[in-house]
Amino acid sequence: MLSIKSFEFNPIQENTYLLFNEQGGCAIIDPGCYYENERKQLKAFIEDKKLTPRYLINTHCHLDHVFGNKFVADTWNLPLHLHETEKQVLNFAPKSAEMYGLSFENYSGAMNYLNEGDIIKLGEDELTVLLTPGHSPASLSFYCEKDGFLISGDVLFSGSIGRTDLPGGDFATLENSIKTKLYTLPDETKVYPGHGRGTSIGFEKKNNPFVREE
Ligand SMILES: [Zn+2]
Repeated sequence: MLSIKSFEFNPIQENTYLLFNEQGGCAIIDPGCYYENERKQLKAFIEDKKLTPRYLINTHCHLDHVFGNKFVADTWNLPLHLHETEKQVLNFAPKSAEMYGLSFENYSGAMNYLNEGDIIKLGEDELTVLLTPGHSPASLSFYCEKDGFLISGDVLFSGSIGRTDLPGGDFATLENSIKTKLYTLPDETKVYPGHGRGTSIGFEKKNNPFVREE
């Protein structure tokens, strides 16, 4: 079974997720750690639980989701997993940091590309990769069928959806992603978004003010 630990990191208050199982395997999704104390917090949790990070994954590459990529890659010697089309967004991250007036060193190591339908294996546990563009050109969501949860990045939030005014964003595309890829999951699926508190597919289908089930 996959356990989920979330951290709220960086000035943009992004949710970093650690998924881990009884065997100690661990996936780090969207490490947003920016401050030294945030990097320490992440490392301390991993060491306390005696976890072995096996994957560094980005749902998408907006600055707030990639602040800690280099730290995680260097600390645990991991390549970055992302959708190939997100590379352009990652390349823009230093410029974005400059605009925010934040210091940033981008990840520049090996990249492993993920695609719709890929399975990420962590021992006995599996995450299915869903391609859910619209907030960014190739946002990915990660679905764990066995444990009934979804890591939704900035695609679907509790009572909201990702903004579509950034480069590569598009409302119709986002709406289609949510309706065809996310709202088709079981109602009881727990949703862990990139910002704010968690929700469920069933709740958002009925109550989300931006995209509702027809
Ligand atoms: Zn974003």
